[in-house]
Amino acid sequence: MFDLTGKVAIVTGCNTGLGQGMALALANAGADIVGVNRSDPAETIDLIQKAGRKFHNVNADMSKMDSVDHVIKEAVAAFGKVDILVNNAGIIRRNDALDFTEKDWDEVMDLNIKSLFFMCQGFAKQIIAQGTPGNIINIASMLSYQGGIRVPSYTASKSGVMGVTKSLANEWAKHGINVNAIAPGYMATNNTEALRANESRSEEILGRIPAARWGTPEDMAGPIVFLASEASRYVHGYTIAVDGGWLAR
Ligand code: NAP
Repeated sequence: MFDLTGKVAIVTGCNTGLGQGMALALANAGADIVGVNRSDPAETIDLIQKAGRKFHNVNADMSKMDSVDHVIKEAVAAFGKVDILVNNAGIIRRNDALDFTEKDWDEVMDLNIKSLFFMCQGFAKQIIAQGTPGNIINIASMLSYQGGIRVPSYTASKSGVMGVTKSLANEWAKHGINVNAIAPGYMATNNTEALRANESRSEEILGRIPAARWGTPEDMAGPIVFLASEASRYVHGYTIAVDGGWLAR
């Protein structure tokens, strides 16, 4: 049920961090990977090839609308079809709400929610044209559930990710498309570098994680393969928290 042999998975932002961890997990389960990156994914290519799978890189800035069409077309040109979409690329901007700029609002919203929605749309159109099942996994956050501090556009975008995941699941389950999300907790990647560098915030955060450690890209492996595979065939519109118990506190 967890076997992804013969499947093609698009993973946005997989040169590093959680995207890299999820691309590798999908490849280890048998999928070939279409990576979508603005930076060179050399390390990821190496890991996927060592796993015995193919990796096709599409160079694209996912904050731009014309990237959506380009990515789907390139994926189909490379592998003849698509089966799985992981909308992982995301950014964060930190500032007090009183000082927050329009630029920091728009840049985060354009990538984290607008582009994510249109990637879902482009992928769903392709799946419906193929007449095959499809799995979409959107990457949400603890800030899909909580307000956070000094990250208003990130909270808005990630709350939107959880909402849109439910809304699209309602429309597309009938087409054999499972739309779900994963909400990572506090994971040690570039995204949380500033947070981990701030000793008092870092201690505060660690102190309330029941698992007593920051998460890692490897912690995403089981949940992503589950949501990308037949094993989750009756799971629609749900967001799974992978958070070391953070939300349970
Ligand atoms: P990361 O290491 O900063 O990775 C983010 C990825 O997105 C990188 O591959 C990055 O590429 C890519 N990206 C950023 N802007 C892009 C653009 N315009 N076009 C294409 N790709 C772009 O952070 P991460 O923690 O792995 O984050 C992955 C996802 O998990 C994000 O959606 C993030 O919000 C979410 N998340 C992370 C945490 C956490 O604690 N780390 C918690 C909850 C949710 P570059 O390397 O070129 O910048």
